[in-house]
Amino acid sequence: MSPTILITGAAGFLGSHLSDRFIAEGFKVIAMDNLLTGSLRNIEHLFGNENFTFIKHDVTEYTHIAGPLEYILHFASPASPKDYLKLPIQTLKVGSLGTHKILGLARAKKARVLIASTSEVYGDPLIHPQQEDYWGNVNPIGYRGVYDEAKRFMEAITMAYHRYHGVETRIIRIFNTYGPRMRLDDGRALPAFVGQALRGEDLTVYGDGSQTRSFCYVSDLVEGIYRLLMSEEVNPVNIGNPAEITILEFAKEVLKHIDTKSKIVFEPLPADDPKVRQPDITRARAILGWEPKVGREEGLRETIAYFRKQHEFQHSGN
Ligand code: UDP
Repeated sequence: MSPTILITGAAGFLGSHLSDRFIAEGFKVIAMDNLLTGSLRNIEHLFGNENFTFIKHDVTEYTHIAGPLEYILHFASPASPKDYLKLPIQTLKVGSLGTHKILGLARAKKARVLIASTSEVYGDPLIHPQQEDYWGNVNPIGYRGVYDEAKRFMEAITMAYHRYHGVETRIIRIFNTYGPRMRLDDGRALPAFVGQALRGEDLTVYGDGSQTRSFCYVSDLVEGIYRLLMSEEVNPVNIGNPAEITILEFAKEVLKHIDTKSKIVFEPLPADDPKVRQPDITRARAILGWEPKVGREEGLRETIAYFRKQHEFQHSGN
């Protein structure tokens, strides 16, 4: 019989791609989302599939699943800085109370659970690139603290359930990821730049644009998650693309892909914005045999094609 997997945050960017992948692998997928930042549009193509069930539920409340459950992916959370600044309490609750409920469910069902942590646990990092044994440089009371500390708590309670209750846990630290199904209005650099270029507005680079990020295409990330879930690794594993770029260069790359009158303008840098970010993926390579395959040229082309369709849809009066 096919194994059952519960995916929280399944209507979000990553959750929806994970739903596709596990359906393709022959799993029964129970997709859970409270639709706070996710959208049913991301998963509506799966609704006719007999192996797919959707439950609208807030995972910070008591969470029950009938029948056997072999795996859980806990991906529910506002994830863009704009979203978590607007939803600070919900962000803290889903990382803490939500993770507690999910670990309780995993324990009751003897399910293996993978939780979605983040490069934000490293904060504004003082070592570069970031290795998993770096403890991070986080401002707990800053604006980003609601996300960073929720995810740090999430890692702590996950290790506690592993050590105290013997739950089979996996922790992924996800670095900047992009691809189709990101929201054009989610405020992150890529959707912001592409949306601005498509509307003929200027691209808003924060600060002087010298801060760096390393962008991973979504199909590479999904492969890393799949391999980590199926591995025996309990300690956190970074998954991301080490190809690092400044935000200014990134904005210029977007402009090369889109025929537009838009120029680049500079706006103030938000508080606590990390200056550098690049994953050290030595462990992912060694333990999972994983490394990213899709470069920015190809990834940007795919993603911009998707955003173009969204843009046309929004401007067609639908
Ligand atoms: N950024 C920018 N212009 C925008 C949106 C974001 O210059 O319109 C910058 C942001 O300040 C940060 C980087 O792009 O330095 C990546 O931001 P994002 O929100 O994508 O995610 P983060 O990596 O900061 O969590």
